[in-house]
Amino acid sequence: GVRPLVAGNWKMNGLKASLAEIEAMRKAVEAGEAGAAELAVCPPFTLIAAAAARLEGGPVTFGGQDCSPHASGAYTGDTSAVMLKDLGATYAIVGHSERRTYHRETDADVRAKAEAALKAGLVAIVCVGETRAEREAGEAIAIVSRQVRGSTPPDGAPDTVVVAYEPVWAIGTGLTPTAADVAEVHKAIRALLGEIYGAGGATVRILYGGSVKPANAKELLGIDNVDGALVGGASLKASDFLAIAAAY
Ligand code: 13P
Repeated sequence: GVRPLVAGNWKMNGLKASLAEIEAMRKAVEAGEAGAAELAVCPPFTLIAAAAARLEGGPVTFGGQDCSPHASGAYTGDTSAVMLKDLGATYAIVGHSERRTYHRETDADVRAKAEAALKAGLVAIVCVGETRAEREAGEAIAIVSRQVRGSTPPDGAPDTVVVAYEPVWAIGTGLTPTAADVAEVHKAIRALLGEIYGAGGATVRILYGGSVKPANAKELLGIDNVDGALVGGASLKASDFLAIAAAY
């Protein structure tokens, strides 16, 4: 099977002092203490260059939490995938629900960012997920399917695209879907990836995200078609993040 990916999304958290956590992650992985999954960390843009220096030549990969659809130019405040690649990044998260909500990003916007990531040589981690109201209305699969169809780069290859299923109502709330609900959504995403990428869709990694903690990691990461996790709050401390990765 594919190598699982446990990715940490630090969101707008972390100051210089937090680089010690990144150093601790590298040390633990190098010491063989982190299990079989690939570990990736996505710090805020202010810390990426310093994180890159600490991770260079080691087994822990890193990425950005967003990227511009453009490579360079007059886009004040934005950061391009080319710039991330220049620092040695492997990933760009695109379409996180917080960006879809607070920055009004549409599926088309997210797809343009994913395409820019691929063009720069990064792997795009494309986030999808339903709100609580959508789940209660029985629309979770329809919403997630629309997002996958609309946000993934159609010309991507299995190893350049990762899909992260993050139910909005599970993010930062301590709530998680049942194992059966996770399995149902991941199975639907897998089928769609087959339509989009053909046989290669079978090896696209599909991550679960939303209140993943050391205490629930084994159950969530053991579900069919769950190929890793996208971890928010519990990725800020190396000890918690490593305990999650130890599920593999
Ligand atoms: P939490 O793990 O804090 O719920 O956040 C999940 C998330 O949004 C990761 O991208």
